[in-house]
Amino acid sequence: MNTFEIQKRQIVDTAQSLVRKGYLMATGGNISLRIPGQNTFAITPSNYDYFKMTAEDVCVLDFDLNLIEGHLKPSVESAMHGAVYQARTDVNAIIHTHQAYVSALTLIQAPIPALFDEQARFLGRSVDIIHYAPSGTGLLKHVVAKHVKNHNNAFMMQNHGALVFGHDMERAVHNVEILEKCALAYLLAICSERKVSKIPLAVREVAFAKLRRDQRKIEQGERVTSGE
Ligand SMILES: [Zn+2]
Repeated sequence: MNTFEIQKRQIVDTAQSLVRKGYLMATGGNISLRIPGQNTFAITPSNYDYFKMTAEDVCVLDFDLNLIEGHLKPSVESAMHGAVYQARTDVNAIIHTHQAYVSALTLIQAPIPALFDEQARFLGRSVDIIHYAPSGTGLLKHVVAKHVKNHNNAFMMQNHGALVFGHDMERAVHNVEILEKCALAYLLAICSERKVSKIPLAVREVAFAKLRRDQRKIEQGERVTSGE
């Protein structure tokens, strides 16, 4: 077993599970995990079939994007992942997908306000649109790093897809699922052309405070249970 085997296996298992559930399509999207105690992260390789992928194919990079381990080209979005890990010490797992309903909302640039308690508790006050920048560019990395400082755990990249965080991979996957449910419900509600109701502001703030409390624990190196 090599040094990063656990993280690499978790990335492959998660990627294949997300393909089966329909959140990842073809070779689109990318997934990464922070390596604890190091300025490094493991990330899926670029443009590679998720069902052919094995743990050995996963790349390990430092925050300067030097390849520490791996034999394939890392995801073109590696710089974006590295920037998020540096900007948000509470984030240990990142999933970027082209999931369908989120992608639709990015086309009409419709941020999702706080619609459900669960959304505010785990994704944050709102799901904002990150304005368009071409994949794999320094501009996208810069724009993303600026947005994520608002402590939300889900974002929509204009004309592109979803960017979702978790303090661990399991939480990041749950957040991907919550986000898609919110995106579908919001799209359907918008299509009705009737007023879309939001949760009360006070409820949103209590839920967001719980998320922030969890994030501070992670920043201080404590464990968090994702139950509540
Ligand atoms: Zn993408």
